[in-house]
Amino acid sequence: MSDSSAEPASPSPQDPGSGLEPGLRADLQRIAGAPALLVALDFDGTLAPTVDDPDAARALPAARAAVVALAGLPATRVAVVSGRAIASLERVAQLPSELLLVGSHGAELRIDGEESGPDLSAEDLDLLGRLYGAVAGVATRYPGVRVEEKPAGCGLHTRTASPEDAAAVRREALAAVRSLAGGEGIAERYGKDILEFTVRTADKGTALQVLRDRTAASAVLFVGDDVTDEDGFAVLAGDDLGVKVGAGDTRATRRVDDPEAVAELLGLLVRYRERIAP
Ligand SMILES: [Mg+2]
Repeated sequence: MSDSSAEPASPSPQDPGSGLEPGLRADLQRIAGAPALLVALDFDGTLAPTVDDPDAARALPAARAAVVALAGLPATRVAVVSGRAIASLERVAQLPSELLLVGSHGAELRIDGEESGPDLSAEDLDLLGRLYGAVAGVATRYPGVRVEEKPAGCGLHTRTASPEDAAAVRREALAAVRSLAGGEGIAERYGKDILEFTVRTADKGTALQVLRDRTAASAVLFVGDDVTDEDGFAVLAGDDLGVKVGAGDTRATRRVDDPEAVAELLGLLVRYRERIAP
């Protein structure tokens, strides 16, 4: 950490990270010297290129290799912080089990094998009860439709319904849910043959704070591409570093173009931290 403020020497084109801007390389070198580092990464659009079929999304091989290498370094933890449910994230991410996982935009956490659901207030529980009642009330009129209760919401499954019924029940359920408190505080999410409703209890910012506490991180690197990642950038401070992927307004202080550049960034971080890890 003695030279953590020094500007990295100009890289040759063969060096990992040579495509990254010097300011970002300098920030990476600085954060690589953190006594306890948390690397928190969004999945879709960040580790994995965005694809039409969410089940076909995969991390770029170079990004995956860097994540595995980082997770194996001392005093270094890696978290994947996604809007997907943890079950879906596990299926597509296929990452080592020592990774920390945040799903459902912060509503689900898995830290060292321990799952925690959302912290629901009495108000949340009341809304959750009314949410389930509204969705189940609609679903019961359609054959082949099933409602799954979830810790902070419910899923409307339409795989075994006719396409006409599936479309109709989704439409009616959306209308019913939106009439609850004007739909305030309830997130809607479409999946394959499922429409999911979640009582909003957490975001990526609250999740990052939990991860920061639990890992006793002295610095956090957070990388994400989407609007919901801004909640994560908003809680960064001090020695932290936020990197936005792609275009759009952001609170992050650095930016890269695409998942390929994220893989390059992570590869460079591995190199720096291998050299100077505590
Ligand atoms: Mg994303």
